[in-house]
Amino acid sequence: MLEAIDLVKEYPVRGSDRVVNALNGVSLTVGPGETLGVVGESGCGKSTLAKLLVRLEEPTSGRVMLDGVELTALTGRRLRERRRRIQMVFQDPYSSLNPRQTAGRTLDEVLTVHHLSGDARGRSRRVSELLDMVGLPPRFAERYPHEMSGGQRQRIGIARALAVEPQVLLLDEPVSALDVSVRAEIMNLLVRLRGELGLSYLFISHDVAMVRHLSDRVAVMYLGRVVEVGPWSEVLDRPRHPYTRALRDAVPVPDPRITGPIEATVTGEVPDPARPPSGCPFHPRCPLAEDVCRTVEPRLLDLAPGHAAACHVAARTAGQSGPVAT
Ligand code: SF4
Repeated sequence: MLEAIDLVKEYPVRGSDRVVNALNGVSLTVGPGETLGVVGESGCGKSTLAKLLVRLEEPTSGRVMLDGVELTALTGRRLRERRRRIQMVFQDPYSSLNPRQTAGRTLDEVLTVHHLSGDARGRSRRVSELLDMVGLPPRFAERYPHEMSGGQRQRIGIARALAVEPQVLLLDEPVSALDVSVRAEIMNLLVRLRGELGLSYLFISHDVAMVRHLSDRVAVMYLGRVVEVGPWSEVLDRPRHPYTRALRDAVPVPDPRITGPIEATVTGEVPDPARPPSGCPFHPRCPLAEDVCRTVEPRLLDLAPGHAAACHVAARTAGQSGPVAT
């Protein structure tokens, strides 16, 4: 359904002729009704990927396809019509909602802009329906963002995304800014909505446990590249790439006293993306690095059915030098 093909995103470095490669040839697919988890440390390119998929930003090269139509080639009305089918839910619901608008006005505005649900009475009915879908009573239509809890605000953020009847939701760390006690509620809501509405999700998170809970497949990103992809049970329980293993084992123990994003930390510094290491970009942090890793960048290879990794050692262990995975 949704397909990223060889997406590259470069940002120029101010005052220099160098560029930062935020995305370095990322290819992914999200099938109908499927959830693809995208996991990696801060700066790995996962949020840039989401922005390119909804065309909040333009790729330097590569394509985005939705149901066989190339979104990256569309403009004007045709782009707006297609783009409506992919909606984004942001990490911080407070900053993504207008503080001077009630929840009802926010939802009504989306319906009005997209010419949905008819006249004022039809839109009002639809607003109540949307609130009900996300587990809020109709009286929440009168509330302003500051009159709601973080979880309630995120429910409004999800209702706003659903207002235009999308096929795909891009969930960018949708629970990491929330209190630990409400994260499970929002995750369960997302699971329920996916089943009821037949949605596909691209679920971005640094939290491997959350990805495991929601995803059918997982893509692990490092320094703007997909380094491992496959069914979550394969990738997280039998990781082939040393970075996936380190990320999985670095999952922080939940601490109810801490709210907001908790970063899992992998040993060693994330390299400067404007000066990526030669060869395998993970080699300065990799406990298995060999000479070849410092000079030759590994390709993403299928190592088992539906399970691919970009690692020289993993490929040798699997006895593979097969085709580039997609
Ligand atoms: Fe480590 Fe080498 Fe594999 Fe890179 S290619 S992850 S450096 S073993």
